Amino acid sequence: MKLKYLCPHCRNSVNIGDEVMLIGKTRTGLKGIVVFSAELGNYTAKFSDDITFTEGNHLNLTCPICRKKLSRWRNKNLAMLIMVDDEKVERRIYFSQIVGEKCTFIIEGKNLKQSFGEHTSQYSIDKLL
Ligand SMILES: [Zn+2]
Repeated sequence: MKLKYLCPHCRNSVNIGDEVMLIGKTRTGLKGIVVFSAELGNYTAKFSDDITFTEGNHLNLTCPICRKKLSRWRNKNLAMLIMVDDEKVERRIYFSQIVGEKCTFIIEGKNLKQSFGEHTSQYSIDKLL
């Protein structure tokens, strides 16, 4: 299934083919480009050359187009994008902004449709909605 990811603020797509490209900034002010796999449950991430984000770093992810934060939701550890599938159905996808933390939640309306990753139990989905 081909998925498209949109910024929830400007609704521009932030994926190029099967990679999602965002800007990541640490609390200490380091900034870089972060590239994730668009495939659900694949937690491969690449970072731009001059930046080393280490496991456990909290990244503030922002949209590369409108520069708005993707994390102004109830849990600051999670970022959100809109995911659009082949049939143009839109769902919200929440994922961790902590480097090395593997969790993804797919929400449709007020319902959790699917979750991925070994760290999902650290989050209470009721607090996300
Ligand atoms: Zn945007």
